[in-house]
Parts: sequence; structure tokens; C-alpha cells
Amino acid sequence: MARESDVTLVKASGPLVSSARRRLFAWWQTEARDLPWRFGRTSPWGVLVSEVMSQQTQMSRVVPYWTAWMEVWPDAAALAGATPAEVIVAWGRLGYPRRALRLQACARAVTEQYQDHLPDDYESLLALPGIGDYTASAVMSFAYNRRIAVIDTNIRRVLSRAFQGVESLGGATSPADRRLANSLLPQDRGDGFGSELETQPPSVKWNQAVMELGATVCTAKNPLCEDCPLAETCLFLAAGRPGLGEKHTRPRQSFTGTNRQVRGKILDALRRQEGSLTRAQAEALWEDQIQLDLCIASLDEDGLIEMAADGSLSLPR
Ligand code: SF4
Repeated sequence: MARESDVTLVKASGPLVSSARRRLFAWWQTEARDLPWRFGRTSPWGVLVSEVMSQQTQMSRVVPYWTAWMEVWPDAAALAGATPAEVIVAWGRLGYPRRALRLQACARAVTEQYQDHLPDDYESLLALPGIGDYTASAVMSFAYNRRIAVIDTNIRRVLSRAFQGVESLGGATSPADRRLANSLLPQDRGDGFGSELETQPPSVKWNQAVMELGATVCTAKNPLCEDCPLAETCLFLAAGRPGLGEKHTRPRQSFTGTNRQVRGKILDALRRQEGSLTRAQAEALWEDQIQLDLCIASLDEDGLIEMAADGSLSLPR
């Protein structure tokens, strides 16, 4: 039975939610991007790789990396056998390269603990290295068709706007975000959507469609309300989009001049280099030598590079 707080959280009425759902499902049917890990075309492991790569990187940018990666390492056991250097090189310019090493640590755990079969329960997934609530939920829903609310920034923004009429203010996922997502998640049987003709359970389709809408239509700064399947019922649009784009989180630091840029330059140079970078080659990469040294030290600490006694750098073997 729905808790009272769930009922008050969703300002939209039941019929309005059902109608929004129907329109969103019709939109998903025609507008879903044809990404290679969707619609049952890859293994659960392939879904997990796509989710890890898509964190903090746009899905469209991920496609060529994911495709090449899965050709070389189609399952956890294959990735577990790679060297860290191979993994870092293949990660290329996807950004936040620590994710690559965490994915490999996850592959080793799946190989050793589960004989190369990705577990199909939330708790076991969550216990794997580098897997948080979002990725565990996404794998349960998208790979195993289980009814579970998937909550990321895009989903939170769409649900908050369309069904509560207020802007989502970012920050960490709150218990109220979870209650809202759970209260709107369709049942997989008995609500008119669970016919045997459906290949995707409604809860899975809902998670994917809401996320897709947030990525392509109901974007943070410029939502395309005129093209949105939820426009007729959206409480945020009806209210005149109050506080559009407001955020409680700090604005993102620009990339130029940041430690992220310097770390990226060092890793790029190492990816291109056969063997190691001499100290002189490393020094030529960035003018501010103090910042350069800080970045070299942090890459070393993260296990992304190795430093020799003479100051030369290499990818970890
Ligand atoms: S109508 Fe506009 S604000 Fe409402 S869900 Fe659609 S894009 Fe977002």
C-alpha cells in the first residue's frame, strides 16, 4: 500500500500519471536511440560496461569506445586477464580514467567469485568494486528486467518537473527522490501494460524512457517542451517553469587549466608513447611544474601510472 508521504509527493493524479505514461511509452517506441547495448542485444556484462562508461560521459560519445572494448574483452574473464596499461589505453578519452581500473577490479571479482556470471541480485552487485546504487539498479532493470527504480540526475529532473511541478535542484539523491521514483514506477502486471506481447516489462521501459527524455528533451537548461510527450500533463510547464535551471550544487569548474586537464595530457602522452616518458618529456607537457608534479603524484596514487627512480613515467604493467 502506498505510504501517505508517497501520495503527497506526487502532485499529479492517477489518471494524469497513466496518461503521461502512455504518451511516454509511445514516444519511446519511435524515438529511443538505437544504442548497441539496448533491447537485449548484449550480455548483462555488456550492460554493466555501458553504464560505467556512461557515468559522466555522454552516451553518444561512449558508443565507439564500448564497441571496441567489447570486441576485445567481451566478458568479465577477458577483461580480468588484461594488463592495467591495456585497459587505460583502451579507455582513451572517455575521461575520469579511474573508472577503467575500477571496472577491471569488478571484472576480476566477477571472474573469481561468480565464475564469470554477473550476479542478478542487487546486494551482490552493490558489493562489487566500483558499483554503486545507480549501476546496481540499472543492471537489475536493463539487463535482468527486474522491477526496480533507477535514479540518476536525468530521471530525478524529469520526475520532479513533470509530476511535482518543481525544478530538481541537483545534489545527492534524497529519500524523497527515492519515494517519488518508487511511487511512479509502473507495476509489471495488471495495469494494462504487462501483456505478453510486450518484450520489455513496463518498469524497465519506464526507467529507460524517462532517462532518455531527460537526456534528449527535458534537459537541464533548455528543455524542449514543444517536442515533449509529457507537455500536456507536465506540472512544471503548466506552472510557467518556475526556477528553470536553478541548482543548489556548485557550477562546474571549466576544464582549461584544471588538474583534470593536466592529468589527461600526461595519460594521453603515455598512451601515444611506446614505453615510458622521460622526466624531460613529462616536464615539457605543462608549464606550471608544481601543478604538473601534483598531477603526476595523484595519477601514481590512483594506480594509473608508475614512476621510476629517475623520474620517468609509464603505464602500469
Ligand atoms: S514539458 Fe518541458 S519541463 Fe515538462 S517534462 Fe517535458 S520537457 Fe520537461
